[in-house]
Amino acid sequence: MPSSRLCYFLTTLIPSSVFLSAGVAASLPSPCTSLSTVLPAQVFFPGTEGYNTSISSYRYVQTRLLPACIVKPRYAQNVSKIVEILGRHNSTRFAIRGGGHNVNPGFANIENGVTIDMRDMNTVDISRHGEVVEVGAGALWGHVYDVVEQRGLSILGGRVASVGVGGLTTGGGISYLSPKRGWVCDSVKNFEVVLSNSSIVNANATSESSLFAALKGGQNNFGIVTRFDLKTFPQGPIWGGTITLSNASDTALLRAFTMFKDPSSFDPHAHVIIIFMYDVAQQSFFSLNNMWHSKPNGSKKALQGLLNVGPQINNTIGVAYAGEYAKISVMPVPQNARSQWATTTFAISPTILFRVHKIWRSASIRLGQKFQKANLVSSYTIQSVPPPPPGSRPNSLGFSPYANPEKDLVNFLVLFQYEDPKATQELQDSILGIINEIDKIAEVEGIKQRFKYLNYAHWHQDILGSYGQASLQRMQKVAKKYDPVGMFQNQVVGGFKLAP
Ligand SMILES: Cc1cc2nc3c(=O)[nH]c(=O)nc-3n(C[C@H](O)[C@H](O)[C@H](O)COP(=O)(O)OP(=O)(O)OC[C@H]3O[C@@H](n4cnc5c(N)ncnc54)[C@H](O)[C@@H]3O)c2cc1C
Repeated sequence: MPSSRLCYFLTTLIPSSVFLSAGVAASLPSPCTSLSTVLPAQVFFPGTEGYNTSISSYRYVQTRLLPACIVKPRYAQNVSKIVEILGRHNSTRFAIRGGGHNVNPGFANIENGVTIDMRDMNTVDISRHGEVVEVGAGALWGHVYDVVEQRGLSILGGRVASVGVGGLTTGGGISYLSPKRGWVCDSVKNFEVVLSNSSIVNANATSESSLFAALKGGQNNFGIVTRFDLKTFPQGPIWGGTITLSNASDTALLRAFTMFKDPSSFDPHAHVIIIFMYDVAQQSFFSLNNMWHSKPNGSKKALQGLLNVGPQINNTIGVAYAGEYAKISVMPVPQNARSQWATTTFAISPTILFRVHKIWRSASIRLGQKFQKANLVSSYTIQSVPPPPPGSRPNSLGFSPYANPEKDLVNFLVLFQYEDPKATQELQDSILGIINEIDKIAEVEGIKQRFKYLNYAHWHQDILGSYGQASLQRMQKVAKKYDPVGMFQNQVVGGFKLAP
């Protein structure tokens, strides 16, 4: 069983209301009581408004687990105190929550344990000369764009304003300008982190550099990030938007994206995400051809094939700031929506996308027929994998600094949104089945890739292993050094864990 799967079973099956081991139970108050003694205005118990608001703000039902209490730190010193207390209660399980957009249950919330909701740590301060923006770990991307764009600058950030900086950045992060500028995590100049011994450290290229690399892709395995210092760069508005197409255009769109991914037509300024969707209630298949280009007046030759696909149902292409695109992409979901996602990566070939499409389409039709009342929306997304950073500033994602994944690799994300909990098991089997089938075809075609993107991954997938043994072992070494007691393996059970 992969470690991620094991951690889910632990999270859900073993009641973590059994907070304390027998030996210490008699001498310690409950962790929530200890926390509320130290941070009385920042700890929220079931039944209070603060608690209910926090739980209902998770995007999907399956992530609205019910912790024994929620603590909302405001400063790194608060986080340090919380970690110190939870370290004393070392059989208490806890979760770290950023924007709450990961769909995997138990990753950013926990049943019965303690959830640290970071969203009150949301200040965004730009340095005087503007080269760095200091972002509280609970900030959302929309806020960060607002601050930097007022100064005529930009950042690598999420493409939906409501997504959290915390999870997206520590898991990698794909942005509008990623084909040229890389993963969001590689734009971090410094992480401020609270370690399991409750110390507050700065990890950057010259200090705690192994922790610096591990946090870029290793997410919540090493500590709680309290601040991200992100590199800014001059960037005015960008060109882009969405063209909506009916399924009559599917073949043309797949062909155009295949051409776009031909390394010989690579344009580092062009970024594309194609989304194919099936809305079962509407009995409608359609696609969204999202394109951006960082040079509004530059040549769009690389995108011409995609621009030509029609007939277009709607076209929003224009010129706007990245933050504006991120704001219009916030799509609220029904309050009772559930969701599962899974991912894989393959290199482009003349046939792969057509085969992938067929697999997804037939699975979607079958599931739509079976779960007619589940309000199932099945979709998949294809986009490029960002380039790795230069060798002197490694991340943990496992690409060689000389690799060019941005040119020929395709990231695939499949997502099911639905409302009927009874559909969960079969949808899970299907989503993992789709990935399995694609991986098999990719293997036969000789285009299979090891890497799987953490931030789009199902909790059943082996993500940290997909970075390769060398990277995994480096992260394990870093965890031993910075978390010798194993707090972030044993107490923070949600997420993709390092333990074999
Ligand atoms: C609508 C939508 C749009 C998206 N757009 C993009 C996109 O443009 N690009 C992209 O790459 N991905 C995108 N994603 C995927 C996104 O990166 C992940 O869902 C990510 O987990 C979101 O971060 P969060 O802070 O909101 O998540 P959360 O669910 O709060 O956290 C996710 C994980 O990160 C850990 N974590 C969070 N904060 C910290 C911290 N401070 N210290 C240590 N660990 C922490 C949590 O413990 C948890 O395991 C999108 C997802 C959705 C639902």
